[in-house]
Amino acid sequence: MNVASQKNLTGLRCAWMTSVSEEEVLFVKDGAVVWDETGHFVFVGEWGHRPLDEAIAWDHRPESLLLPGFADVHAHLPQYPVVARAGHELLPWLNRFVFPAEKAFSLSRARIHAPRFYQELKRNGITTSVLFSSIHEDSTHECFVHAEDSGLRIVLGQMMMDRLSYSALSPARCLAAAIEGSERLCARWHGAADGRLRYAVSPRFAVACSMELMEKAAVLARQTGAFIQTHLSENREELRVVAELFPGAPDYTGVYEQAGLLGERTLMGHAIYLNARERSVLAASGSKVAHCPSSNLFLQSGVMDWAALDAVGIRWGLGNDVAGGPELSPWEVMKAAFYAHASRVADKERPAVPSLARLFHAATAGGAAVLGNEATVGKLAPDYVVDAVLWNTTGTLPYDEPLLERAADEILSTLVFRGSQAKVEQLWVQGKSCHSRITA
Ligand SMILES: [Zn+2]
Repeated sequence: MNVASQKNLTGLRCAWMTSVSEEEVLFVKDGAVVWDETGHFVFVGEWGHRPLDEAIAWDHRPESLLLPGFADVHAHLPQYPVVARAGHELLPWLNRFVFPAEKAFSLSRARIHAPRFYQELKRNGITTSVLFSSIHEDSTHECFVHAEDSGLRIVLGQMMMDRLSYSALSPARCLAAAIEGSERLCARWHGAADGRLRYAVSPRFAVACSMELMEKAAVLARQTGAFIQTHLSENREELRVVAELFPGAPDYTGVYEQAGLLGERTLMGHAIYLNARERSVLAASGSKVAHCPSSNLFLQSGVMDWAALDAVGIRWGLGNDVAGGPELSPWEVMKAAFYAHASRVADKERPAVPSLARLFHAATAGGAAVLGNEATVGKLAPDYVVDAVLWNTTGTLPYDEPLLERAADEILSTLVFRGSQAKVEQLWVQGKSCHSRITA
């Protein structure tokens, strides 16, 4: 590509870091990046190798670090107001905090909360987010309207449940409202904003869904090409209830298998207590997993066996699972993953701790891969889409030592364990700035 011949280029001089593979991170201290008007990188490299000076509009040395935008693959938008309510396991916590919060997620509340939530995502460096809404079609539509305005890459779906629902409707009418609402929302929003918005058919979990609802959800996803998202095997009491509700299924995954919900575009939250049969069925179907370590610690659910998923080739990304997880921050999610797995090392049955490079990959390129975007999103590299975030690293090391003077592995480690002190300066999706703290 002849960069010099291109018009309307944008460029930065800054340090940058990206995943290049699951175990490898590339860091350049004095770097430059340039992208074109289509929002794709045309140059990512050393300052000394920059293609031309005219495009480099900004110089962000010495404390700013450009990273790929984070891809968070599991969270609940209406639950954000009830984050950090600790001391309960999953099922009582849902009843006490979550169902009331979702029930209250009316159209007028969605109109106020959705834009503020997307702003919070940006403040946390998240450019891609996979979200559940509430059971309300109008509120979910409103969340899509503001997702379009936000500029972010959003996958979203109306929560489906026809059992234990907080709706005043009968189970049969809950089922009809879930299917018909999802059909209309999917028709309106799946692939909207040039593909930046996509729909996820979203049965809550087997505890809250009849087999008929799950089967109809699977048909809708197949007919439309939408994603499917749900929760799988998060908590031992949940497992007991599912076994009681679906005695004909071989295990929890078997319920979703019978409903036709497994497949390449299916994303399972948690997947903690899987047996070998379940892992092999998930792998064969191409289903993906959202690993939510901060939520799993917070709700005392357990620790997902990432190495067992790796062993059979199941792809996984990271999710903050707000409000199961107390914070949106991808740094906090990576830190929780490290601590959760580190705490199991004494148990000889358990695998080793994932490297920080692996966790960084899962939080960026791995999350994009879970959504089928591995060839275009999640890395700083030529021809990749410019979903990127510029962090000010001042104050992350004690006594204001300059972080970017350190080696790449020390920089990544510092950010994982002290990242809350780094600040998002600017965030781009598809090359368009959609958040900036920088004043000209
Ligand atoms: Zn969840």
